Amino acid sequence: MECAIPASWRNQWCLCVPAKSAEWDTLVTVPTVHEPPPSDVVVVGAGAAGLFAALTAARDGARVTLVSARPLAETASYWAQGGLAAALAVDDSPALHLEDTVTAGRGLVRRSAAEVLCDEAPARFADLETLGVRFDADRHGNLALGLEGGHGIRRVVHAGGSATGRRILRQLSADVVAEKRIEVLERSRVRALVTYADGRVGAVACDDGRVIAARAVILASGGAAALWSRTTNPPGSYGSGLLLARAAGADLADLEFAQFHPTAVVGIPGREGFLVSEAVRGEGATLHDAAGERFVDELEPRDAVARAIHRLLADTGAPAVYLDMTAIDPARFPNVVAALRESGHDPVTQRVPVSPASHYMMGGIVSDLQGRSTVAGLYAVGECACTGLHGANRLASNSLSECFVFGHRAALAGLDEPAPRAGATLREPPASELAPPASRETRAAMWRHAGLERTDSGLRRLLEDPHPLARLVAASALAREESRGAHARSDFPAHDPDLDGCHSIVPAGAMTTTLVKWT
Ligand SMILES: Cc1cc2nc3c(=O)[nH]c(=O)nc-3n(C[C@H](O)[C@H](O)[C@H](O)COP(=O)(O)OP(=O)(O)OC[C@H]3O[C@@H](n4cnc5c(N)ncnc54)[C@H](O)[C@@H]3O)c2cc1C
Repeated sequence: MECAIPASWRNQWCLCVPAKSAEWDTLVTVPTVHEPPPSDVVVVGAGAAGLFAALTAARDGARVTLVSARPLAETASYWAQGGLAAALAVDDSPALHLEDTVTAGRGLVRRSAAEVLCDEAPARFADLETLGVRFDADRHGNLALGLEGGHGIRRVVHAGGSATGRRILRQLSADVVAEKRIEVLERSRVRALVTYADGRVGAVACDDGRVIAARAVILASGGAAALWSRTTNPPGSYGSGLLLARAAGADLADLEFAQFHPTAVVGIPGREGFLVSEAVRGEGATLHDAAGERFVDELEPRDAVARAIHRLLADTGAPAVYLDMTAIDPARFPNVVAALRESGHDPVTQRVPVSPASHYMMGGIVSDLQGRSTVAGLYAVGECACTGLHGANRLASNSLSECFVFGHRAALAGLDEPAPRAGATLREPPASELAPPASRETRAAMWRHAGLERTDSGLRRLLEDPHPLARLVAASALAREESRGAHARSDFPAHDPDLDGCHSIVPAGAMTTTLVKWT
């Protein structure tokens, strides 16, 4: 992605300070400016949530700086296959979408947030069409709606079959580049959130030494599923935004809820962890054990299907179960079919060996219905946020919709924040270390001890892990002494009804969780 702003103009609103050094002493001062403030909004992350938030703010007249550490093709959004969920069919409604979301979330969905998602997803879908995204139509020219696990009705829209994320991101990034009010800093990493003396976040500090002040900072930095060794996610998904927010004083929540996708490829060289979309099962693909027998209802929500596979593999010692998509029209899922064929496996004639892999973080930075975190001036949207809308188990294709619905809300709410304070002193929080890329040992330990089934003793071992987020996941999983949705404790196999609606909050600076009922 090219920066839309001429180089000569580019740094005008950025406060350039030397890269962090002893002399800097973590204090920076916003110079008194007579011109308009440097940026109205800084958005961190150029996935679906970040691009959409940036466009929304810019189209509302704001000056936006969009900072992205990794190239477009390395975002989870770009890899999204299945699509986005919205009540668009004539026989569907936001109320039905809400019902399925609540059921999938296993007694933990924050209803107010899920209502926002289901009510506003159709309007954000329309925005995407206006922005130029072309969604797939059926042979009559009507919108083609797919079915996925946990949905009681066809409500998932696709673009380019299973290339939905790629299509959407290409269009949104082209729109961002064309938008004169957005400055893009690509391959620039935010290493700290910078605060005023009263704790309000007022700027971001990048690893090239730039400090960018704004009314609001919107974190859209993605999830943390790559903290587990077997994952469908790009390598950058280590949850760096969660630790940036925590260092700035924000609360995190529900870190024990990491979703495992049931059908990631196993044992095909070059395709380990490659996701085979849930939509394939929606169209009739079936799951079989090594003897060819079916063993699960393929359209159950993800936690149920993933756990059925996990248990079967644990009981039999088999490395994989087999996804039979031979009866599916290959034209419906062109990039899945092409990727497998490239690796010498033809899903049109052969069953695909699959097993679960870490896929999505339901937990994240505590955020309200406008995307506000618990720290003034700081917002979180997309997968890094935890509004509670997914509860203990995300309904398939609700996360792209979430990126657009809450990206839109946060962008507008952020513009109501006070302007950067000229001359005020900004302070980099002391513990502002970027999440280090997780080591191979950490990722293996996460898979072993915080995987599809957890125990007290395994989680306690993780409390000693060098990676800070691994320790927080372990502390949250230890504190939840029940099994619910994506969190299964073999020492507490039952669901505890007293914990219905209780979210586990990790306050900034604490290593223990507090259970809080959200409404
Ligand atoms: C293979 C796959 C398939 C999926 N399919 C679907 C699907 O069909 N439907 C659905 O709803 N969901 C799907 N998901 C989930 C969905 O794609 C993600 O939840 C969603 O795209 C997350 O978007 P995001 O914008 O929050 O984060 P991301 O797309 O992960 O983007 C994060 C951005 O933050 C940047 N960043 C991170 N840290 C920093 C930092 N410190 N400084 C600067 N920049 C930073 C990254 O470079 C990146 O640009 C899928 C996920 C995967 C992995």
